[in-house]
Amino acid sequence: MKTALITGVAGQDGSYLAELLLKKDYEVYGTVRRSSTSNLERIKHIQDDIKLIHGDLLDQNSLIEAIEGSRPDEIYNLAGQSFVPATWDKPVLTGEFTALGATRLLEAIRLVNRNIRFYQASTSEMFGKVAEVPQNEQTRFYPRSPYGVAKLYAHWITVNYRESYDMYCCSGILFNHESPRRGLEFVTRKVSDAVARIKLGLSKELKMGNLDAKRDWGFAGDYVEVMWLMLQQNEPEDFVISTGETHSIEELVEIAFTHAGLDWKDYVVIDPKFVRPAEVDLLMGDSSKAREMLKWQPKVEFEELIRIMVDSDIKRYDTQEHSS
Ligand code: GDP
Repeated sequence: MKTALITGVAGQDGSYLAELLLKKDYEVYGTVRRSSTSNLERIKHIQDDIKLIHGDLLDQNSLIEAIEGSRPDEIYNLAGQSFVPATWDKPVLTGEFTALGATRLLEAIRLVNRNIRFYQASTSEMFGKVAEVPQNEQTRFYPRSPYGVAKLYAHWITVNYRESYDMYCCSGILFNHESPRRGLEFVTRKVSDAVARIKLGLSKELKMGNLDAKRDWGFAGDYVEVMWLMLQQNEPEDFVISTGETHSIEELVEIAFTHAGLDWKDYVVIDPKFVRPAEVDLLMGDSSKAREMLKWQPKVEFEELIRIMVDSDIKRYDTQEHSS
């Protein structure tokens, strides 16, 4: 029986990954911060099957203790505040959690047991102002937010520990991945939630930012599978994980409203408040390396994903109304 330790276990990806590892008969540990009032909603259904232990990316000793206490074979570093606009408000804290947090975790592994395999959640936000389309493992990075910059530090320190200490460290450069468990502030979920509310008469409009940006959106459930695959290889390597398709925010909005039988133009209002200081205009990933080497491919395609999210939010509000 293998043991895994997941930071950020209560997040979207952490919850899907924990489910996957439990199915594979892993013993699953997840870190929670003592100081935070963690929202455990996403792991409520598996809370009895996983072990929550103290671990804080700001606190080196807590990470050493978490590793000593759980004795994992694999560590997945998924923790962190990943909503991009919020990182302009807290650039220093973003660096502490995301950049130095990954370093503290790697340092803890180096001190406790160098044989532990490490997965770092890197992101397509590191490509930012993209140097080419589509983006692959060789594409030059150009982050456009404190989030992207901090993630880039974490990415390179992961590579550096691999090269310096011969540790099994991998970085997955995951493009946007969504699900009904996505936080309400992210654009896909903001739209699916608003469509549900408008459909049920609970709201009349949806305020949005830049509708022209384009993203390569996949399903989070498909993407956690590849995190695990990356740690099962003979040699540690980095991989781009994406669908290879790109769609604009306007297309997303149109698909979501149309699915509920509504015309988006009747409801969407542009509010400059949601326009960012610096934008990532276009993301589109080339995941050929993962498809060839890991035999991975995404299963849920974009339109289906959006329809699943809209249906899930409509159902959620419906159930709430009927139970109140
Ligand atoms: P990101 O790609 O990690 O920043 O994921 P998000 O889901 O937060 O944003 C995706 C894109 O949607 C960005 O280019 C945003 O500028 C754009 N966008 C347009 N309007 C909104 C909005 O109201 N909320 C969010 N979150 N993003 C918006």
